[in-house]
Amino acid sequence: MMHFMKGVALPFSAAKEWLEVVDKAFRFLGYHRFYPPVLKKSQKVVILEKRPTYGGNSIINGGEYNAWDDEFHLRQQLNLGDDSAELHKNDTLKGGDNYGSPDLVAMLTAKAPDALNWMLDKGGLKLRQILNRTGGHSAYRTHTCVEGVGRGYTEAIKKIAEGNGSEIRLNSTLTWIWRKDSDAQSPVEGIEVQTGKKTKNIKITNALILASGGFSRDIKMRQSFNPSIVPEFNCTNQPGATGEVIRYAQAIGADTLQMAFIQLYPYAEPETGILDAPAVYPFRGPGYGIVYVNKMGKRFVNEMERRDVVSMAQIKTGMKPTFSIFNEEMIPKMGTKEEVEKGIEKGRFVRAETLAELAEKLHIPADVFQETIANHNKYLAENKDPDFGRQFTKAMMPLVNGPFYAIAQWPAVHHTMGGLRINQDAMVIDIFGNPIPRLFAAGEVTGGIHGANRLGGNAIPDCVVFGRIAGTSAIKG
Ligand SMILES: Cc1cc2nc3c(=O)[nH]c(=O)nc-3n(C[C@H](O)[C@H](O)[C@H](O)COP(=O)(O)OP(=O)(O)OC[C@H]3O[C@@H](n4cnc5c(N)ncnc54)[C@H](O)[C@@H]3O)c2cc1C
Repeated sequence: MMHFMKGVALPFSAAKEWLEVVDKAFRFLGYHRFYPPVLKKSQKVVILEKRPTYGGNSIINGGEYNAWDDEFHLRQQLNLGDDSAELHKNDTLKGGDNYGSPDLVAMLTAKAPDALNWMLDKGGLKLRQILNRTGGHSAYRTHTCVEGVGRGYTEAIKKIAEGNGSEIRLNSTLTWIWRKDSDAQSPVEGIEVQTGKKTKNIKITNALILASGGFSRDIKMRQSFNPSIVPEFNCTNQPGATGEVIRYAQAIGADTLQMAFIQLYPYAEPETGILDAPAVYPFRGPGYGIVYVNKMGKRFVNEMERRDVVSMAQIKTGMKPTFSIFNEEMIPKMGTKEEVEKGIEKGRFVRAETLAELAEKLHIPADVFQETIANHNKYLAENKDPDFGRQFTKAMMPLVNGPFYAIAQWPAVHHTMGGLRINQDAMVIDIFGNPIPRLFAAGEVTGGIHGANRLGGNAIPDCVVFGRIAGTSAIKG
């Protein structure tokens, strides 16, 4: 998804699965005459990808997926408290300063567990036996795939899509969308696609689903909507995240919204902006007691805060980088020992037996740093953080026993929350408020879901939930 619906795409499997669920619900309610539309044999699903490899940001992402439940009931198994669709919805709306559409957010959060179970059951997705409470969330709901990277989800979806006859065409760039006119009745008729030096048109008989991602990599586009996201910022995204498809859709009348909302990821590698496996630990850690400190060895923010708040607090320190601090006991809650050992080999994690030794390795004042950690331990024991108001939970651990670990972190451009306006059927809406016939969109190319700030781990469910809805809508025509 994310990816499997580039260009002309009807994810037959997604639609079929979803329709089975709807069908069951209708039957349960006594409506026995519900006949779901199905993809005819003559219809073909083609997925266009401009890059030489498939996957976009989805294949390199941190593998974090928010759902208030799953078929294993992991949260209940791990005794990590309560959660619900309503709570996930409220956190998402609040985390985006209530700029997200309540209807779309309700859809995303209600269906996140189903979409996860679909990838587990049909795509062979596997999850780690951990669950995290991450910045801006009030519950432990962030799942991680075994790979610890988005490939776990994209491979599952690719398997489902290809198993149902979808064809992925690499090095195939969408360069235009054809629509006769912007009259409300006028459907999308075709697309222009460039492969190498050749350009050809493809007729759209049923539906065009746009799933081309965001525009974090296009500095000019970023600047035109939000000049505060200066070119000097690093970026976590793959090079293909350039947003031109949003422009092509606009050219045929599509509406956009909230394009100025652009997110920084607070924990990227400070010099390159890379978001690799180690850079996900600071994101996973808050629910287990990870502490963020600046170069003076002091805390500078409530670690439970949203990404925009943490990023701004980092920038305000005026001292690059900041660090996440954790100990050995926290590792199995956030990831794996092997991952951490690999990270140490690469120079990403720093390990020390004592806090004083860790401070020395990080070139930060040892006395201040030790006092900071001792104070945080005390706050945790007393369940009160007078400095930053951190919300403590029973699952959090004090930083008492070594070895201790640190990772350097700094904000980098990460996610564009704005994009194409869609309705609850994932149909693209034009500037007059009408759905554009045969045009659908899902994932980061859309806007209006995450509001001013996306909560980490909400993008993959956004892509999968709305990808499935787009597929179902597209098949209905
Ligand atoms: C490093 C990183 C880590 C992240 N970690 C997480 C996480 O753990 N959890 C989470 O929920 N979110 C995470 N996110 C965000 C999430 O990965 C993205 O929002 C999501 O993958 C977007 O999916 P998509 O399908 O919309 O776009 P993508 O997966 O980016 O796919 C879009 C594809 O469209 C192609 N394309 C673009 N234009 C054209 C064109 N003109 N013609 C043909 N093809 C085109 C692109 O090359 C790309 O392959 C992360 C993002 C990054 C960058």
